[in-house]
Amino acid sequence: SPATNQSSTRQNVKVVVRVRPSNAVEMTRGDTEVWEVKNDLRRVGLQADYCERHRKQMAEYFFDEAFTGSDNKILFEKGVRDTIRSTMEGYNGTVFAYGQTSSGKTFVSHNFHNIVIFRLFVNTYVKSLNCTNSQPGVIPQAVDCVFDYIKECQEKEFLLRVSYMEIYNETVRDLLSPETEDLRIHEDKRRGVYVSPLKEVVVSTPRQVLKEIMKGEANRHMSATDWNERSSRSHTIFQMVIESTAKNSSPSTSHRYHPAGPKMSGASVSLSVLNLIDLAGSEKATTSIDRRKEGAYINKSLLTLGTVISKLTENSSGGHIPFRDSKLTRILQNSLSGNARVSVICTISPSVINIEESQNTLKFAARVK
Ligand code: ADP
Ligand code: MG
Repeated sequence: SPATNQSSTRQNVKVVVRVRPSNAVEMTRGDTEVWEVKNDLRRVGLQADYCERHRKQMAEYFFDEAFTGSDNKILFEKGVRDTIRSTMEGYNGTVFAYGQTSSGKTFVSHNFHNIVIFRLFVNTYVKSLNCTNSQPGVIPQAVDCVFDYIKECQEKEFLLRVSYMEIYNETVRDLLSPETEDLRIHEDKRRGVYVSPLKEVVVSTPRQVLKEIMKGEANRHMSATDWNERSSRSHTIFQMVIESTAKNSSPSTSHRYHPAGPKMSGASVSLSVLNLIDLAGSEKATTSIDRRKEGAYINKSLLTLGTVISKLTENSSGGHIPFRDSKLTRILQNSLSGNARVSVICTISPSVINIEESQNTLKFAARVK
């Protein structure tokens, strides 16, 4: 089949798929599980019956990794850790969770192990999120990975800043400073593309990072009338800017970027950005008129994301890449192109009811690989 993507073309993009276990609703309904995952073959395919019925669609897909179940640790190890460590070495990095609503994106990306931190902020949030202590998601694991790296790395000093944004209906909101209006996308030589004015918090412990995320989540929660609904219709970008210098040189103590760059401190400063992204649900928009505009924005940004990554994969030698077609891809411009490392985690539901959305997700995964 022409769509089979057995030959991976871009080493910098890693694509991981996970089929989650059936949930209570699916089990009560007695939904059939239609996807077969062969982890050793890195293959996800429809079971024979369904292959027949859906034979017009491609029935088999190969990825860098394919999983079932709930093990976020192995998923992180195989699909994400290299991307995080590369950002500590000076490359930009991006990790996405892509899939339809309730396929497991937030479970993969946000699940936190420290439930106590949640209680400091909003109790309702504790109730609304199904936290499990044993399966921290990509964000908490990435944060640990970053601080472990710093501990190991004797010869360098690091300065870390975090920010947290939401893109809803193509409008960027600062989740750490919700009053801020008119956030804009800028570009300069040293920093590349960035959002301003965006609150950036200097952090030096994992706990501080998680605390900022919790504040962001609380702000997001309070401003939305229907939080569940909204959370599936917006993208969130958790960003960490990593600056490092050799230890014996004078470290950068500034909390702001200097366009003049490394010259100012006299030392060689390495600057990189890590983006951890929980995307809006990829399902087709419902027919409700209210939803149409939202849906159109989401479809466009997800489509643009797929186009941008696949064009970067196809032609490293020029050609138009439509970064400017969506806020998401524009903001991520420097973290998708060039030497950037990208991990795409595609989440799918096992149920026969979601078969078409799951196929769309797998097509996205195949497209970006
Ligand atoms: P999404 O963010 O894609 O809308 P969620 O991550 O919120 O989906 O997942 C929906 C529900 O399914 C949540 O209750 C979540 O805890 C559960 N869930 C998702 N993925 C898994 C998994 N791999 N193992 C166990 N439970 C999961
Ligand atoms: Mg979610």
